[in-house]
Amino acid sequence: MAHKSDIEIARAATKQPIQEVGARLGIPSEALLPFGHDKAKISQDFINAQKDREDGKLILVTAVNPTPAGEGKTTTTVGLGDGLNAIGRKAAICIREASLGPCFGMKGGAAGGGYAQVIPMEDINLHFTGDFHAITAAHNLLAAMIDNHIHWGNKLGIDARRVAWRRVLDMNDRALRQVVHSLGGVGNGYPRESGFDITVASEVMAILCLANDLEDLQARLGGIIVAYTRDRKPIYCRDLKADGAMTVLLKDAMQPNLVQTLENNPAFVHGGPFANIAHGCNSVAATRTALKLADYVVTEAGFGADLGAEKFFDIKCRKAGLSPDAVVIVATVRAMKMNGGVGKDDLGRENVEAVEKGCANLGRHIENVKSFGVPAVVAINHFVTDTEAEIQAVKDHVEWMGSEAIVCRHWAQGSAGITELAERVAEIADSGMAQFSPLYPDDMPLFQKIETIARRIYRADEVLADKKVRDQLRKWEAEGFGDLPICMAKTQYSFSTDPNLRGAPDGHSVPVREVRLSAGAGFIVVICGEIMTMPGLPREPAAEQIMLNDAGEIEGLF
Ligand code: ADP
Ligand code: MG
Repeated sequence: MAHKSDIEIARAATKQPIQEVGARLGIPSEALLPFGHDKAKISQDFINAQKDREDGKLILVTAVNPTPAGEGKTTTTVGLGDGLNAIGRKAAICIREASLGPCFGMKGGAAGGGYAQVIPMEDINLHFTGDFHAITAAHNLLAAMIDNHIHWGNKLGIDARRVAWRRVLDMNDRALRQVVHSLGGVGNGYPRESGFDITVASEVMAILCLANDLEDLQARLGGIIVAYTRDRKPIYCRDLKADGAMTVLLKDAMQPNLVQTLENNPAFVHGGPFANIAHGCNSVAATRTALKLADYVVTEAGFGADLGAEKFFDIKCRKAGLSPDAVVIVATVRAMKMNGGVGKDDLGRENVEAVEKGCANLGRHIENVKSFGVPAVVAINHFVTDTEAEIQAVKDHVEWMGSEAIVCRHWAQGSAGITELAERVAEIADSGMAQFSPLYPDDMPLFQKIETIARRIYRADEVLADKKVRDQLRKWEAEGFGDLPICMAKTQYSFSTDPNLRGAPDGHSVPVREVRLSAGAGFIVVICGEIMTMPGLPREPAAEQIMLNDAGEIEGLF
């Protein structure tokens, strides 16, 4: 039997009115701000009123180093949420919103897959409730105010060659990566070189996702460094008086969005920062709200656990005072095979030896996650091509590591395929076993923080950085930014900085190419390797297949 596509499954789902979904979490309909019948924002007043309630249990879904296909973190997050509800627990999920750029570029959605999806998937993958448009507008308002300030006499003394704030667009458009603007004469300002990033790479996105409330949002926006003077003094967003208007533009976007899974369980879909130059998790506002309203909250962090889980712990949890109770590490037989040296085209063939070899990668992630004091269980996301022997090889390895692996068939079966994992996760979360602590203290010197991540998580021997980078870090420490956490930007395909070095390498070195201060978001981005902040479209973009059919329905969206 041919498998139904994600969009076919999503379209066939019986949706509940969003008020009914909200009611399951005790949200009265007047606290829901509906967008149509199946999406709503949750009002800030209602959220504020839940402040003193006790938090539910927080469960992070992370993964091994990914293969280009994606390992199914979102699919497993959705499936586990449904699984927990199916065994009678009050659970909600928290995931990121989708960016339009990749949606029209490479095939691959952001709303889960198979029988573990959030709906309405068309809306979630497209304009949704307009949050990303609001972020784009707020970001570009600040950009316009910078050039406007220079145009009208430049009282702050901005060095036009040292403007750090680019413009953003929620599109994959390589033509805009590097531009010269303000051409055409005196009335158009001072020509200078700049460029565009994709909206999800905006610091405004990271700020929205980390802000506690509107006041905090405005304070963080004000703290964005937009440029420097000729003698290298930072110019802040608040110096341009842009923070108030930006907050106004973001007021509604700050409120978390509520939708439902295919099985009508509550799902918060809110925020979507880049997983490399930002922290790659959904908003603190949504996670906190979900924790107040549900007994179990399942959330996801981008990329593999070396990047995603580390940033979830060291940036999001540290900053928001969250304390995770359990971690699920998603592994697939395919990923183990690739980590064991098998090429992309040979993944369909049984190869137990390669699976065993690739399990070193999984083992390393288990150790790392446990080092944060949080118990971990492995979810083997089952693919139809997996053989019994290959699955057994993964299970054996995990057992040998002193952990456990549970086969999950949520993609094919929905909640019925993941109840064993749900039972186990609930048990672990309830046990109070977790004793979370971040990897490094706030007051550790910045370079030492980088070394700690490189040594303890990547198992590198050394961090290589030239004098310029080290001096810059020391300068920030002197300016009072020394207590910020580190946001690593490196390849997601390897523990090392070499995407081809799979498995569990050690003894490598981590070269730091560049460091950037995100003073508003509150972290220091450490760039190891090439980082693309404006993706391009592939030779045959997914957009070519996306269209309306005769019934007016969207076709070709995954
Ligand atoms: P991630 O969040 O790790 O990037 P996703 O959950 O978005 O991964 O899944 C990536 C793609 O893989 C999606 O298109 C999804 O439908 C597909 N997928 C996930 N799990 C399975 C599975 N068990 N079998 C087949 N396809 C799957
Ligand atoms: Mg995902």
